[in-house]
Amino acid sequence: MRFVSTRGQAASATLSQAIAAGLAPDGGLYVPESLPRLSHADFEGRESLPEIAATLLRPFFDGDALADALDAICAQAFDFPAPLRRLDDGTGLLELFHGPTAAFKDFGARFLAACISRLRAGASELLTIVVATSGDTGAAVGGAFHGLPGVRVVILYPDGRVSPRQAHQLGAFGDNVRALRVAGSFDDCQALVKRALNDGELQARVPLSSANSISLGRLLPQMSYYASTALAHWRETGESLNFAIPTGNLGNALACILARRIGLPIGEVLLATNANDVLPKFFDGGAYEPRASVTTLANAMDVGAPSNFERLRWLYPDEDALREGFRSISVDDEAIRETISEVWTRHGVAICPHTATAIHALDSLALDGSWAVAATAHPAKFETIVEPLIGDLVAPPPALAALLARPAHAEPMPSDFADFRARLEHT
Ligand SMILES: *Cc1c(COP(=O)(O)O)cnc(C)c1O
Repeated sequence: MRFVSTRGQAASATLSQAIAAGLAPDGGLYVPESLPRLSHADFEGRESLPEIAATLLRPFFDGDALADALDAICAQAFDFPAPLRRLDDGTGLLELFHGPTAAFKDFGARFLAACISRLRAGASELLTIVVATSGDTGAAVGGAFHGLPGVRVVILYPDGRVSPRQAHQLGAFGDNVRALRVAGSFDDCQALVKRALNDGELQARVPLSSANSISLGRLLPQMSYYASTALAHWRETGESLNFAIPTGNLGNALACILARRIGLPIGEVLLATNANDVLPKFFDGGAYEPRASVTTLANAMDVGAPSNFERLRWLYPDEDALREGFRSISVDDEAIRETISEVWTRHGVAICPHTATAIHALDSLALDGSWAVAATAHPAKFETIVEPLIGDLVAPPPALAALLARPAHAEPMPSDFADFRARLEHT
């Protein structure tokens, strides 16, 4: 299979090339030239998450240098579960936070790392992955590449603007993973990374790559947990499962939408945002108007210009069909707080602020059918928000606890490109 750019001005690429490149040379996002069509029959006898992932992803790897390694890559990336927990009211919580850094991004980051480490095998030069993060991405990427030969990770995060546990996590890997705490905002961090990636002179001396959510190596594998959950539901009931998904850059939600398009038994996909309401405004009939993000309790979704929107437009070239295809609801901080408290009182389950947006959006619509909410992070990652609301402690899951028990170190850095560049070149 070949991959083309959403902007149509770049040569087609193999999957390996598209994964190594990140962004297409014309500034667009890579998408498959055509979409495969699978049905539940293709998954017969496939029960486990890695098996379902490999079956689902096989057509995308067709003819690629990594094709023979796909089973091994899936076994490596999907080595923790994505269980569906049922609340008393029947709503499912698809728990995507059982990985090493307790957020759904572990799946995509680990899959990407498994691909890149194979693509780099035998390369003589060290590859530097630069990543700007508001918390979860940096941890997932750091964790995924930690200890892999031939690759180092440099994480930039806004000093003082991530939760204490998130900050500790980012600095706790060590070895080939370096954390820089930047005197500035997330946007400043992002700008430094973009400038480095576009700096040809720097790249000639220090090969750089990114690992952000537009990478196909993160997007495609995220289809797997929706596929596996929907197939299990279909096998049990003969019906499609609907999903409510907390959304920022549309990476996680787009994976679900893609899985549905390919033929998995997925019904409606409800898009929940925090107060950053670019998507709800669009789906309510307004124009698509990206703007600067505002800070919310669900900080991993503080996005004013969802980067995967371009892929959604590619999937739905007809704008009316796109608008009719989805519902999107914006949930403010007050409703996030209320939902965290309510779910605790009613069901005895602690949820993270991101998950709360999707539960609130779903509850506000009172829709028919079977629904599962993507629970994108473990509540213990956001303990300073969740614990006071539920009046109880939330114990970190074992992998997160192990990371928090390690010493952490992050280098302070001004928001200055010359400084960043010097650090990449000389250390
Ligand atoms: C990144 C993240 C999201 C948003 O995911 P997108 O793919 O950017 O839409 C939601 N919840 C959590 C916990 C996250 O870390």
